[in-house]
Amino acid sequence: MKKNLDTICLHGGWKPTKGEPQQLPIYQSTTFKYETSEQMARLFDLEDNGYFYSRLANPTVDAVAKKIAALEGGVGCVLTSSGQSANFYAVFNICQAGDHFITSNNIYGGTFNLFGVTMKKLGIECTFIDPDWPDERIEQEFRPNTKCFFGETISNPGGNVFDIERFAQMAHRHGVPLIVDNTFATPINCRPFEWGCDIVTHSTTKYMDGHATQVGGAVIDSGNFDWEGGKFPGLTTPDESYHGLTYTKAFGKMAYTTKLVAQLMRDLGAIASPQNAFLLNLGLETLHLRMARHCENAQRVAEWLEQNPRVSWVNYAGLPSNKYHALALKYMPGGTCGVIAFGLKGTREDAIRFMDNLDFISIVTHVADARTCVLHPASHTHRQLSDEQLREAGVAPDLVRLSVGIESVDDIIADLQQAMEKMG
Ligand SMILES: *Cc1c(COP(=O)(O)O)cnc(C)c1O
Repeated sequence: MKKNLDTICLHGGWKPTKGEPQQLPIYQSTTFKYETSEQMARLFDLEDNGYFYSRLANPTVDAVAKKIAALEGGVGCVLTSSGQSANFYAVFNICQAGDHFITSNNIYGGTFNLFGVTMKKLGIECTFIDPDWPDERIEQEFRPNTKCFFGETISNPGGNVFDIERFAQMAHRHGVPLIVDNTFATPINCRPFEWGCDIVTHSTTKYMDGHATQVGGAVIDSGNFDWEGGKFPGLTTPDESYHGLTYTKAFGKMAYTTKLVAQLMRDLGAIASPQNAFLLNLGLETLHLRMARHCENAQRVAEWLEQNPRVSWVNYAGLPSNKYHALALKYMPGGTCGVIAFGLKGTREDAIRFMDNLDFISIVTHVADARTCVLHPASHTHRQLSDEQLREAGVAPDLVRLSVGIESVDDIIADLQQAMEKMG
């Protein structure tokens, strides 16, 4: 039976039968037992499905991966130990030394560094483009060795909306897949595969978990991209480390996912633990309820901030005045997310004073949590930079990132109000 997303949040993945636990069990085991040596050998040859070692597959982790695949509408999903490893694996699965890829520059700072610094050391080059540039300008950046295009549905921390359909078409014109980090929107608010995106990634640390209990990531494949054509020999020619097996021939639509597990998990091992997968699954059970409330609360807070004389600017795509509002309505008609970026009139010190005055709204590095939290990049994540360097890095010195939670919105606004009044 085809189910709606709200039902998949509860029933996706783990399907207990007679006498089995209703809640997903934690298979806290590194290894799995077989009756004969032959059974085990077939698993190692990828000729049979089954569990043998939790670096490659674990029943708890698998069940949660299946739920996320169903939520995104993909054919396969791999959970990783963090959002960082998810983005690394998603790209590294189809790029090697000497290759190149293109990314939007409106992306999470950690991803920016991974792509621009660490992957460069591996011999993979990346070009950062401004998604506001016209098509002709961006298309100049494609090279014969370009292997993918990357963007974030809603960028962290700026809150810009990525034009998924436009960039999927552009990537496909050049024979490469579009990878979208869908962390802030979640599949409840946006399903990038429906707009032509080929691979989706997540930091499950954020809304999917929602309770700040585990760091994790996910890579989901739509199964729609055609890897044949010569650009992706890693998928279409024999893998000598797996007895000369060719992923596209042996696994069809599961080629990308199988390669990611068989090579990257096998050799690099950034796995999700069964405990963490269990906690993530509890979060997923209420994702649909929480996202609706995050969006409803953030909308009210953004409107309140926009008319507040102490506030110099507000970036929230749910506001009709926002530059990205039309894109938000197209891709996320039910709401975007709970994260708002805004500027307070005054200096860096004023922003610090405002945050120190807050009552229950917490100062944390985390974002997209059930509890409202706040961060001032200029005095936290980017504190070593001067105001000028901050602007160059695309972070306004007065930018406050407010992650609106699911508390009473009246209390959230009251806390913001009293903290501003105490600034004098
Ligand atoms: C947090 C975040 C990441 C990194 O995820 P971790 O789980 O912290 O490793 C990647 N992308 C986006 C959009 C994020 O918000």
